[in-house]
Amino acid sequence: MAFSANFRCIAGCPGTYALDRVMYRCPTCGDLLEIVHDIAALRVVKAEAWKTLFAERWRSFDEPWGSGVWGKWEWVAPEIERENMVSFGEGATHLTRIAGFAGLGDVRVKQCGTSHSGSFKDLGMTVLVSMVKQMVARGQDIRAIACASTGDTSAALAAYAAAAGVRAVVILPRGKISTAQLVQPLAMGALVLAIDTDFDGCMRLVQDLAEKEGVYLANSMNSLRLEGQKTVAIELAQQLGWDVPDWIVIPGGNLGNVSALGAGFEMLLALGLVSKRPRICVAQAAHAAPLHASFMNHWTDLEPVKAKTTLASAIQIGNPVSFKKAVRALRAFDGVVEVATEAELADAAGRADRFGLFTDPHTGVALAALEKLAAKGTVTPRDRVVVISTASGLKFADFKVGYHEAKLADVPQPKFRNVPVELPERYDAVRDALLKNLDR
Ligand SMILES: *Cc1c(COP(=O)(O)O)cnc(C)c1O
Ligand SMILES: [Zn+2]
Repeated sequence: MAFSANFRCIAGCPGTYALDRVMYRCPTCGDLLEIVHDIAALRVVKAEAWKTLFAERWRSFDEPWGSGVWGKWEWVAPEIERENMVSFGEGATHLTRIAGFAGLGDVRVKQCGTSHSGSFKDLGMTVLVSMVKQMVARGQDIRAIACASTGDTSAALAAYAAAAGVRAVVILPRGKISTAQLVQPLAMGALVLAIDTDFDGCMRLVQDLAEKEGVYLANSMNSLRLEGQKTVAIELAQQLGWDVPDWIVIPGGNLGNVSALGAGFEMLLALGLVSKRPRICVAQAAHAAPLHASFMNHWTDLEPVKAKTTLASAIQIGNPVSFKKAVRALRAFDGVVEVATEAELADAAGRADRFGLFTDPHTGVALAALEKLAAKGTVTPRDRVVVISTASGLKFADFKVGYHEAKLADVPQPKFRNVPVELPERYDAVRDALLKNLDR
């Protein structure tokens, strides 16, 4: 069976381009590219047969088909050959129930952060790096893969590039990055260039390098990444017995991930695996909410803002690259946009942790948005809801510690604060503390 996928301009310019061409924007109009699949070829396989195939591969030991991304290979990047797939078994993550959260009956968290480098960025990077590995194997001259991210993207790139044997270059603003954010790419041997500039300056430099020096760009304008991230939609439908939830809440910054979610559901619908559209809510930090501003004005054009510092650092973005794709997805899925303040996102994360999660601040934004939608009655107690968790809380130790020590400037009174009870080594003191605290 010959499946295929190609790049195409999102603004509708004629022409499609092979996925192994080095291109990030439409050569005619400069707009973003998206990847289109030959749906007619995929339709030759019946919906039930796809479901059976996906079930057989789910978490299988047969590498790399047990990966949530490569288990959906035909729908992701059918041109990539088995020997070029670079996988850490990404995806196939748990859908955890937190019944009763926000007074709702059926809330689940899709734990995309329980992944190799600790964020969902792995889902896209496995596809991008595998494609580069294949391009290099076929003789294309690519010296390195580069990105200008500060946190999760650079960690994912460094890991997959190391596994593929391709050099990774991470370009960062000097002195603005914490050790925790730096240490993954450093440990994995990436070339880390710390530049005397801000993030936008790094972005300009990396785009120049991509144009002039044979460096492949891994930032999210590269739509190969979205093909991997799209599998989250397919996975969660599969985990729910192909019964689509009423609502999906997802945190958004550069807005690639919500575009991927929409693309995943469009494919599920086109190929008949599901018959219903979920509604989608993008959750933004109030300190960086240009999509929210557009939504409040009936989807006016993007007005870039200067993002203020937020605990949800990965979505501190005022000029989102994938804005147009996100608006298209939200219109198609009767979407809404909600915002969360610093205190709201921190307390929502704290509340979810009481279900046994260990929630990062970005997932906190999504959970806080869900609480607000429930309070407004937009989401009702009978709705089935999935919240997309984007990272592991383990990557955000400063946030977690700061919350419980009440040291976060914008969260002076953490509602779910929990601190150790400090005691002398005396049985009666320990017993009293135990009985008093368990009684509460
Ligand atoms: C990248 C990232 C996001 C935002 O995804 P976009 O595609 O930029 O909207 C959210 N949370 C975490 C943890 C991320 O790393
Ligand atoms: Zn175009």
